[in-house]
Amino acid sequence: MLDYVELGADLDAEERMIRDTARDFVEERVKPDIGEHWIEGTFPTDLIGEMGEMGFYAPNLEGYGLPGVSETAYGLLMQELEAGDSGLRSMASVQGALVMYPIHAFGSDEQKEEWLPRLGTGEAVGCFGLTEPNHGSDPSSMETRAEREDRGYLLNGAKTWITNSPIADVAVVWARDRSADDAPVRGFLVETDRDGVTTNKLDEKLSLRASITGEIALNDVYVPEENVLPNVEGMKGPLSCLTQARYGIAWGAVGAARDAFETARQYALDREQFGGPIARFQLQQRKLAEMATQITTSQLLAHRLAELKERGDLRPQHVSMAKRNNVRMARDQSRIAREILGGNGITADYSPMRHMANLETVYTYEGTHDIHTLILGADLTGIQAFQ
Ligand SMILES: Cc1cc2nc3c(=O)[nH]c(=O)nc-3n(C[C@H](O)[C@H](O)[C@H](O)COP(=O)(O)OP(=O)(O)OC[C@H]3O[C@@H](n4cnc5c(N)ncnc54)[C@H](O)[C@@H]3O)c2cc1C
Repeated sequence: MLDYVELGADLDAEERMIRDTARDFVEERVKPDIGEHWIEGTFPTDLIGEMGEMGFYAPNLEGYGLPGVSETAYGLLMQELEAGDSGLRSMASVQGALVMYPIHAFGSDEQKEEWLPRLGTGEAVGCFGLTEPNHGSDPSSMETRAEREDRGYLLNGAKTWITNSPIADVAVVWARDRSADDAPVRGFLVETDRDGVTTNKLDEKLSLRASITGEIALNDVYVPEENVLPNVEGMKGPLSCLTQARYGIAWGAVGAARDAFETARQYALDREQFGGPIARFQLQQRKLAEMATQITTSQLLAHRLAELKERGDLRPQHVSMAKRNNVRMARDQSRIAREILGGNGITADYSPMRHMANLETVYTYEGTHDIHTLILGADLTGIQAFQ
C-alpha cells in the first residue's frame, strides 16, 4: 500500500491494529461484492452490525462502551473504509460523526444511555437531517420548524438527500424553534416510527450508489421535550457535527485515491501493449508519479489535522482546507487511474471509475468544494463572500 514517506512507521500499536483490522475487513468483506452492490444500488446491510461489532462507529468518542481511540486511529479507519467504497465510509461517518457525536456532545444523560450503546453496536441506525429541498449550501435558511405543543414540540418540514433515512431508527433533525425568541435552530431526536414521519428512498443516483439515501418528511410529528438535544442552540449544533464528519472525509478521500492508484499501478504492470507492460511507458509512469505525489501530500495534511485535533487546536477552517484539497485530489486522481485501465476501467470490475463517480457526491456533500473555498477566503481575508 502506498505510504511513500513512511507515515505508518510513526503509528502506535493500537493505530496500526485498527488500520490493519479495517484493511482486512474491507479486503475480505467489502471488496468481493461492492461492485455488484454499486450496480444494483444497494448497501450491504449485513455489514452494519458487523461494523458495529468491530467498533467502527465513533471509536474516537469515550464512555458508553466507546473506546476513545486516537484521532489518527479514527482517521486511518475512515481511510481504509473509503478504500473499499465512499458509501461504506459514509455509513460510518453518518452514524459516528453526525448522529453519535451530537448525542454525545449535546445530549442529556438519558439520551446518551438510550442511544449511544445501540448506535455503537449498529443495533440501531441513525441519520442526520439538515439539508432541505430549497436549502443546501445555506442551511441556516431552513424552513423546518418546531412549535410548542403540550410538553413537547410539533415538527413540520422536509429534509432531503439524507443518508440512511429509509433504514434509520432515529433521525437527528435540525429545525427552527418557532416558540422561542429569534427562532433558534435546535436538534431533535426523532424516532422514525413516530406518526407523521415518512422516509422515502431516493433512487437513480449516479454516484454513491452503494449507499441508501432518502428524504424525511415531517407532518405534525409530535416529539416530547426529552427528545430535544438540551445542550446546544443555533447553527453551532449542526456545524460542529459537520466539522467532525468533514475530518473523517479528509482522511477517507485519500483511501479512495490510494485504492484507485494501487489498482492502476498493478494494471499497468500486468497489461501488455506493443510487446510489453504499459508501465514501461514514460507517459504512464508520469501519471503514476503524479498520483503518488498527490496522495502523499494529502496523507500528510490528514495526519497534521489529527495532531491539531488531538491537542485541541483544530479549527473548522483547517478541516475545510483538508476536505477541499483531499476530495478534489481524489476526484482528479481516480479519473487518471481510470485512464490507465483503458476500456476495462469503464467497468465495475475495477474500482477507479466507481470511486470517481462516488467522489462527485463527496465533493458536493458536507459543504461543496465552492463553499469550502469561500470559508477559506473569508478566513484569509476577513471578508465573507457568501452573498
Ligand atoms: C448522496 C448524498 C448524500 C447526502 N447525505 C446528506 C445527509 O446525510 N444529511 C444532510 O443533511 N445532507 C446530505 N446531503 C446533502 C448535501 O450536503 C447537499 O447536497 C450539499 O450541501 C449541497 O446542497 P445542494 O445540493 O442544495 O446544492 P446548492 O446549495 O443548491 O448548490 C448548487 C451549486 O451552487 C454552488 N453555490 C451555492 N452557494 C454558493 C455561493 N454562496 N457561492 C458560490 N457558489 C455557491 C454550490 O457550490 C453548487 O455548485 C447529501 C447529498 C448527497 C448527494
